[in-house]
Amino acid sequence: MINATLKELSAALAAKKVSAVELTTLFLDRIDRLNPVLNAFVSTDRDKTLAMARATDASGKVGASTTPLAGIPLAHKDIFCTEGWRTSCGSKMLANFVSPYDATVVEKFKAAGMVTLGKLNMDEFAMGSSNETSFFGPVKNPWDTGCVPGGSSGGSAAAVAARLAPAATGTDTGGSIRQPAALCGLTGLKPTYGVVSRYGMIAFASSLDQGGPMAKSAEDCALLLNAMAGFDERDSTSLERPAEDYARNLEQPLAGLRIGLPKEFFGEGMDTDVRAAVDAALAEYRKLGATTVEVALPNSGLSVPAYYVIAPAEASSNLSRFDGVRYGYRAPEYGDLNDMYSKSRAQGFGEEVKRRILIGTYVLSHGYYDAYYLQAQKIRRLIANDFAEAFKQCDVIMGPTAPSVAFRFGEKSADPVQMYLSDIYTIAVNLAGLPGMSIPCGFGAAHSSNPMPVGLQIVGPWFGEAKMLNVAHRFQLATDWHTRMPAGL
Ligand code: GLN
Repeated sequence: MINATLKELSAALAAKKVSAVELTTLFLDRIDRLNPVLNAFVSTDRDKTLAMARATDASGKVGASTTPLAGIPLAHKDIFCTEGWRTSCGSKMLANFVSPYDATVVEKFKAAGMVTLGKLNMDEFAMGSSNETSFFGPVKNPWDTGCVPGGSSGGSAAAVAARLAPAATGTDTGGSIRQPAALCGLTGLKPTYGVVSRYGMIAFASSLDQGGPMAKSAEDCALLLNAMAGFDERDSTSLERPAEDYARNLEQPLAGLRIGLPKEFFGEGMDTDVRAAVDAALAEYRKLGATTVEVALPNSGLSVPAYYVIAPAEASSNLSRFDGVRYGYRAPEYGDLNDMYSKSRAQGFGEEVKRRILIGTYVLSHGYYDAYYLQAQKIRRLIANDFAEAFKQCDVIMGPTAPSVAFRFGEKSADPVQMYLSDIYTIAVNLAGLPGMSIPCGFGAAHSSNPMPVGLQIVGPWFGEAKMLNVAHRFQLATDWHTRMPAGL
């Protein structure tokens, strides 16, 4: 049961082979047993979760064709406001915050009849690539507990990889769904900007943030995206488009598919074990009838520097709301109001968050705005144009998701720039607002004596989710990388 796909779980529930309560209990028991080691969950509440499962069993939603996911447990990254649950965003600042409302994504999964298993650990305010910035301590990679799970959705990735949850939500501002999915051997999808509502998803960099599914397969991701996507008038950047079935193209054969390979993604910087797995995956795609063509993304080399101006700028503005006044952490002792603000923020935020707030405040300040922020916005446009040009020659773009397999704790945390380079292949996709996903495509051995998963990145044109899911699904029909599970769990 723990390895079953969402479709299989749905069928088992519909046939009454298992109830939502039994299925949920199975995962809650695994969480009790394995979470003390992995630290993937920061909040669980057995009573609340089982009450939800019981209500679902009684609701008539299980087995109904309009709610295929009903009765299946799901865990949320702790960035999604969840009514009655602590929603900490991985920070001391919100460690005591119990959300009074549901994010749209949470609301939609509830309406779909999915059962909330708990809240997942993450880098503080989604800033990080290794989960080492969480106030609640790092998440361990289930493939090797001496290695990071990636970030910032590291709790989501570790939970699904260790089969503590059948699926999870994540968010991706610069790679935070795709990179942890790659490092933990999962399938993760960041939709086109505006496809999934950001309402109730705690804001990091609003023009880049996008929620998406993390699961064991492309087919699972398609079903989850069906439930979570859609226009939301409460998010001003949500796109008003007709609803689509993201699973509609899954089975289409790939003959004639044109895969663009950006030469900038295949140069120096990629580890040889990652390179070998990605090359083997491309060979498999050629066997499936695809052709490959070299494309150019000449400005992609500027994506990391542009991102580290734009994202901190937006973060410095978004995080100004955490001032200790109405909710969140307040320093126990202070003098006047200004002193309360500064002490609460000094004590409530961690080092990486403070670094970003300082950078963001600097690049937005008078006299520097044109030199940094405006310049970065121009680069962003050039990067988007590069992709638009490339998609004239191909249907999807492929390359590595991350330059290396999961690295060891402490390996990059002392050097922010090294850490930032973990997202060298993913950030351009967010800057351009495009959809991107990562699927498992093999194993590497550079950082561990265990086999560690490698991710293949698939990038589609705007609103190309159904195509990308098709491309991923056909690969998963022909290979079994996505079914592998860490040993000893
Ligand atoms: N690792 C990147 C950062 O630290 C991206 C994080 C994300 O996508 N949330 O900003």
